[in-house]
Amino acid sequence: MKIKYADRMKRIALSGIRKVFEKAEKLEAKGIKVIHLDLGRPDFDTPVHIKEAAKKALDEGFVFYTSNYGIKELRKAISKKLLEDNGIEVDPEREIIVTIGVSEAIFISIMATLNPGDEVIVPDPMYPCYADGGEFAGAKTVPVPLREGNNYRIDPNDIEKKITSCTKMLIVDSPHNPTGCVFGKETLEAIANIAIKYDLLVLSDEIYEKMVYDGVKHYSIASFPGMKERTITVNGFSKAYSMTGWRIGYVVASENLITSLMKVHQQTAICAPSFIQKGALSALINSSNCIDEMIKEFARRRKLVLDYLNEMEGITYAKPDGAFYVFPSIRNIGMNDEELTDYLLEEARVSLVPGSYFGKCGRDHIRIAYSTSYDNIEKGLARISKALKKIR
Ligand code: PLP
Repeated sequence: MKIKYADRMKRIALSGIRKVFEKAEKLEAKGIKVIHLDLGRPDFDTPVHIKEAAKKALDEGFVFYTSNYGIKELRKAISKKLLEDNGIEVDPEREIIVTIGVSEAIFISIMATLNPGDEVIVPDPMYPCYADGGEFAGAKTVPVPLREGNNYRIDPNDIEKKITSCTKMLIVDSPHNPTGCVFGKETLEAIANIAIKYDLLVLSDEIYEKMVYDGVKHYSIASFPGMKERTITVNGFSKAYSMTGWRIGYVVASENLITSLMKVHQQTAICAPSFIQKGALSALINSSNCIDEMIKEFARRRKLVLDYLNEMEGITYAKPDGAFYVFPSIRNIGMNDEELTDYLLEEARVSLVPGSYFGKCGRDHIRIAYSTSYDNIEKGLARISKALKKIR
């Protein structure tokens, strides 16, 4: 039998970040220890009260399908959080779907709103799922460059220049993966004005909202005047509560959009896992101290990375205000980003992601994730410094 895959599969690559991880795994299989500064996966254990809530739910037999929207208590807690933290007023009955992570939230948002030929404007470098999700829908990703010289802040004029009669959606993710840039209030207001002027949807990925440093504030674009009806906000538990393996998140939008998103959610997931939803509920109700501690530790690690980078000849970077990534330029090193990450894996036993995996504008950069322990980061960066000196 000659199997023919769907044509769209030719346009969608497997995750580049996973490719990096697999290269490291090959060395690890030979017993070589590799320091991972690659995956954006916080190393903290999930807080105990969250685990206890999920365990209790299992013990009590809370093991069946839930409402497609997710359990009511969780949706109510999400709407309370959105009002208090984000200034977004949401009806928990009709404007929230609990999803299998933010990944599902992004996918159903794109599949439910974009037609083949529609254009989606995305800041470049970008989290690769946005472009891949667009490909599934047959839409065209239109990148807008983020410039290191501008601290990776998006220039709203660059967005406006890319708008055509086919533009349907803008994607905003702040704090931003992979640059760590946080889009300020004025920038988001300018983006909101563009969305209103051209009648566009906005997909706002706020998964790193809690990870902001030096007093920088996170703003939600849906809270700006005229934006709630045209914004799909996605958020989740993976990063803020170190729950990457739990696979839980949510999507928030006006009722008419949610009705369309629900059609895709029903086909892909039916509902988020029942007992995991109880864990997520406990995360929202009981966790403020745990988050503060995690953020303090991330801030300490961020300083460590920047201190090391300051001493590395040939490396420049824009100081990140959020997330747990730094995205230095390696333009002056004499290797491209993929060559350099391969070299650093072989020579320093440190695994990093080449910037080009995040789009054209990521070329000649590397992404350093400081979501592993302080010790690991220190060892990893010392080894990188040494390896870089060797090629000079
Ligand atoms: N959005 C961004 C910007 C991310 O960086 C990630 C994961 O790294 C996700 C979404 C996926 O999140 P989740 O684990 O909730 O699916």
